[in-house]
This record gives sequence, C-alpha cells and structure tokens, in this order.
Amino acid sequence: MPVGTQATVKGLSRHNLLHDLAVPILLGNTYHLFLRPGHKLIEGFGGLHGFMNWPNAILTDSGGFQVFSLSAIRTITEEGVGFQSHLNGDTHLFTPASTVDVQLSLGSDIMMMLDECPPYPVTYSQARASMERTVRWAQSGYDHYLLRQNETPKPQALFPIVQGSMFRDLRRACAQQLIELDADGYAVGGLSVGEPRPVSLEMVEASQDLLPPDRPRYAMGVGMPEELPQYVARGIDMMDCVLPTRNARNGSLFTSAGRLNIKNARFRDDPRPLDERCSCYTCRTHSRAYLRHLFQAGEILFSTLATLHNIRRYLDIMREIRQSIILGQFPEYLRASQSAPPELS
Ligand SMILES: [Zn+2]
Repeated sequence: MPVGTQATVKGLSRHNLLHDLAVPILLGNTYHLFLRPGHKLIEGFGGLHGFMNWPNAILTDSGGFQVFSLSAIRTITEEGVGFQSHLNGDTHLFTPASTVDVQLSLGSDIMMMLDECPPYPVTYSQARASMERTVRWAQSGYDHYLLRQNETPKPQALFPIVQGSMFRDLRRACAQQLIELDADGYAVGGLSVGEPRPVSLEMVEASQDLLPPDRPRYAMGVGMPEELPQYVARGIDMMDCVLPTRNARNGSLFTSAGRLNIKNARFRDDPRPLDERCSCYTCRTHSRAYLRHLFQAGEILFSTLATLHNIRRYLDIMREIRQSIILGQFPEYLRASQSAPPELS
C-alpha cells in the first residue's frame, strides 16, 4: 500500500494513482487527518473516498503510532492516549472507541485498532504491560465497533494489532487473545522501531501459526524491496511503507537491478531509463540524465516522476510474488530475491 498520509500520496495525482499505477488500496493516516482538516469535515464529503475522489480501497491506521512518534507530550492511561497536537499544541484524547469513530467518519474500508507501540528496546515487564493494555483496548474497541457497525450502511473491517515488542512469547500471547475477536483480518505492529531487521522477521514469524490462515495479515510499516518476499514467506499479505515515496523524493530509486542514487555523477549523461525492465511512465519517457538534471535543479517534476517509478517497482514486486505463488514457484523466487544485489553496479 502506498502511504497517503495527508489524503494524498506526495507528488502523485489521482490520475497517476488510478490510471498510471492502478493502485488497488491506499493508506491514510488518522492522526494527521483528525488534526487537519478534521474527520467531521471529511465525513461531510462522504468520507475520504469522496474527499479525495478515490474509488479504490482505503486503509487507515488508528492514529496511535503517530501519537507515539510525533507528539512531544502524551500520557497513556487505561482510558487511552492523551496528546498535544504537533501543529498547534491543542490537547486531545484518543480512546479505543474514539479512534473507531474517527475512522468510521473517514469511511475507511479497513480500520485499525488503537494499540500501544512501545519504543525499542523496552524491558520484558514493560513490554508485557503494554501488550496487555493493547489487548484490553482491542476488546473494548471491538465491542464499540460491533455496536457502530449496525448503524453504518457499508461494511468496514477493523483489524486488531499484534504487539509484544521483541519478545516471542508476548507476541504469541497477544495473538492468542486477539483471535478470539474473530476479526476480518489481523495486523502485526510495533515493527520498524529501530530493531535489527532479522528481529522484525522473527517477530512476524512468532504469531504466524496462530493467526487464522483465511484472513489477511498486515505487517505495518515495512519494508525494503528485498524484504517483501521475506514477509510473504512468513504469511504476510499486506504491507505499507513510506520508503518508496520518501526515498524517491530524496533521489533514491529502486530498480529490478538494485538501488540507484540519481545524484551519482555517472548518470549525468546516461541515456538509459531508470530501469530497463520497468514499464512505468517515467521509464518509458525519460532518461537517467534528464531525471538527474531535474533532481539537481530542484524541479517539482522530479518528485512526481521518481515516486511514480518507485511505487510501480513495489507493486511489480508484489505482482511477481503473487504470480510465483500461483505458478508454485515462490520458493525459487524467494531464493533469487535473497541473492539480488541491493546496489546497482
Ligand atoms: Zn519505472
């Protein structure tokens, strides 16, 4: 899922997303949209779908992660998490029920449960207390969701989030309790918080055999292109990450032959496309030399062209993975992806 923090994927138009990239699902950030322009305003436009004029699916997070990462002042109580807006200092409270209400207003197809995302590292007892609170929040949030679902015409899914920091047994205990909610899907959260990458994979693996195989599983906030098959190999169906969009704007492009830094002087007069095997608009239309020039000149168009390509690369990887699964060739695909060079030579 491309990340559309402020009801937009930075640098891309609706036409880019819908027609050039055929993005089936986007992610929106509840924390940002709640603060600005406000979920009630968006609800007035028929939710995010109406506001953005976006016909495909939308997933929103609960806002909790941004509270933990952006808000300088926050207090966690049994009731929820109180915080100060990073925009104007106003105080707010997110509770398991209120974050469901906000996401119902946003009209998300997939909503996320409020969870506590502990920093890394934490002690075992801190991780356990935090995980247990996440489970209690999930139970109360889910009760509220079931009540509200009766009034909403369009079904909206709510995914609880497996937490437990980097402790295998806590992750398993969390998953075991969350599956009792019989939700439409489950997320694995608390990853990409500074832990070594092998540990992120191990934590996904921890709850792999417990989560129901017939429901989608979403690993939140991962990963590098070469890691996507690794997550799929551990049962993950969905991922989101700011890397393809953020890196694009910084001149870091992902290609089928490895990563490419457009700042590099050797691309100054390179007439080739970014990726000879990519069929995106950018690769069909422009040379590395032209893109490097746009980047060096600080032109707005660079962000658009680079983001278009990076998102296409991520969608292509997921398409390749699905294809290899259908053909029964995923183990070979996984092996090949592990030996691929990260840097273009
Ligand atoms: Zn391309």
